[in-house]
Amino acid sequence: MCGIIGVTGRPDAAELLLEGLERLEYRGYDSAGLVLSVPGSLWRARAAEGTTSVGALRVLAAEAPGASTGLGHTRWATHGHPAVENAHPLFDCTQRVGVVHNGIIENHAEIQGRLVASGHTMASATDTEVLAHLVEERMAGGMGLAESVRVALGEVRGSFSIAVVSSDEPELLVAARRNTPLILGLADGAAFLASDIPALLGQTDRLFVLADDQLAELRPGSIAVSTLDGLPVEPPALSVHWDLAAAQKGGYEDFMSKEIREQPRAVADTLLDRCRPDGSLALDEAKLTDEDLRSITRIHIVACGSSYHAALLARYAIEHWAELAADVDVASEFRYREPVLDPKALALGVSQSGESLDTLLALREARARGARVLGVTNVVDSSIAREADGVLYTRAGPEICVAATKTLLAQIVALDLLALKLAQLRATRSPREISATLDALHRLPAAIEEVVSRAKEVDDVAKALGGARDFFFLGRNVGYPVALEGALKLKELSYLHAEGYPAGELKHGPIALLEPGAVVVGVATRNPLWEKFRSNIAEVKSRGATVVLVANDGDERAAQLADHVLWVPEAEHLLSPVLDIVPLQLFAYRLARLHGLDVDRPRNLAKTVTVE
Ligand code: GLU
Repeated sequence: MCGIIGVTGRPDAAELLLEGLERLEYRGYDSAGLVLSVPGSLWRARAAEGTTSVGALRVLAAEAPGASTGLGHTRWATHGHPAVENAHPLFDCTQRVGVVHNGIIENHAEIQGRLVASGHTMASATDTEVLAHLVEERMAGGMGLAESVRVALGEVRGSFSIAVVSSDEPELLVAARRNTPLILGLADGAAFLASDIPALLGQTDRLFVLADDQLAELRPGSIAVSTLDGLPVEPPALSVHWDLAAAQKGGYEDFMSKEIREQPRAVADTLLDRCRPDGSLALDEAKLTDEDLRSITRIHIVACGSSYHAALLARYAIEHWAELAADVDVASEFRYREPVLDPKALALGVSQSGESLDTLLALREARARGARVLGVTNVVDSSIAREADGVLYTRAGPEICVAATKTLLAQIVALDLLALKLAQLRATRSPREISATLDALHRLPAAIEEVVSRAKEVDDVAKALGGARDFFFLGRNVGYPVALEGALKLKELSYLHAEGYPAGELKHGPIALLEPGAVVVGVATRNPLWEKFRSNIAEVKSRGATVVLVANDGDERAAQLADHVLWVPEAEHLLSPVLDIVPLQLFAYRLARLHGLDVDRPRNLAKTVTVE
């Protein structure tokens, strides 16, 4: 996920691009860059200064020549470190083609191999750069810029919004998209493109949406759109009545709503390009070799907060698919309990930011005790990513709301991939079973979309329980970590008393707290302990608690047992948590809003916890 902006036909192009990038920074900020089209050449500036990248770029741009056409980019790295040489715009060999890209080119390694064999030199480690060289190849053959982009995209798999400029056609910008956003803007004598509305607010209100597999040619005062197959189309107009703050939230009232709705994309991106043509799983950023992973005899997972819940779920997946022993610890406890590790142990740290100090220190402790270390994180080149022997990235894009939503779902599927990879290496599951599970993983984004579309039903349940003060979240098997996550979300967002329990443990103490007025939220989707779980729910019901169940569509018995049901589609039981968590996020969100609270910035909490 990143921010793209482009303009042609405005003498103040550089300033306009910089302002646009400032407004797009919430989409990604590990580096930023811009390219301006000046007679006969392209002028480029790039900076990789983390959150201050756009500011650093502004300093460099003080040297910029006057230009009326250009592109800008603020990056959230997926392939290649957040360094200046990997910052966009990326050039071809001749420095006459500049490309900015949001998304992932899935078959970049293949294309790169061919390009390098035919004499091209790659200057970055990104997946994006191949696009510039593909366009260069076509233009060298005499094709115009727009046709070159169209033909080049015929070779590409994956997701992209791209914009391309060439010094050979200095006033033209060519843009195209598949699965990531891009909008177009038109004004007298100028034309614009951007990945999101905030970048263009105030420049024009004639905005259009570019659809998947369409290509746009922007010239001063005109835009022509066609399909990637070359058929002309009329892009639909976009009417926008948002101010800047609302636009940055995509029109949602808060970042949490936006990020909940971005979950299908976060999961799809995390799954992208992980499967080699021979069916083997490539955890491409994991520097540990297959041999290293095969020699592992025990996994120790450490994490905090929601990441700890992803870790608990990973244990079920690793034990079931890979038949490998896995322990899970809260990171801040692990390092002080004198854990026994050896070189055949793998310490796996899960942290959204890659900076959680407790997790970082736990991994250091594990390494000091002889284990190898693997990090699962959303931030390329974060401390955990740098220090670990290997790293597996989630690709959820920046998460701004303090409470984790899309990054958690991305962690769960990344850890599923790791578990399946281990199963492959250890031959504990047949290729057929692994491939069926991968297919099921790829069906999750559409199912998440379906669950999110039922937000109104969750709102109604939350409203009915608006006066409740005590919530008990129960689950068994993989439903147990889901229950913990549901309780955590409710606590952190609404400040209500919420506890998560393994349902079988209830009778050993907590059941004493149940009385009329208490709410029990049960994760009752199908898993191996489904029947036993129902008996646990019957026990709480007879103590007078109000029962809310997350249950699979069509489950009549759940409907009979519960006062309210949050319905989700059925999924393979180890994958079901990815769906079951979503209504609990929506439930916590709605209760917090009913209590008038700021969901994006709950009291006392920080997004990245860098203290012990
Ligand atoms: N995959 C590209 C990169 O890592 C683009 C990432 C983005 O969308 O910012 O450079």
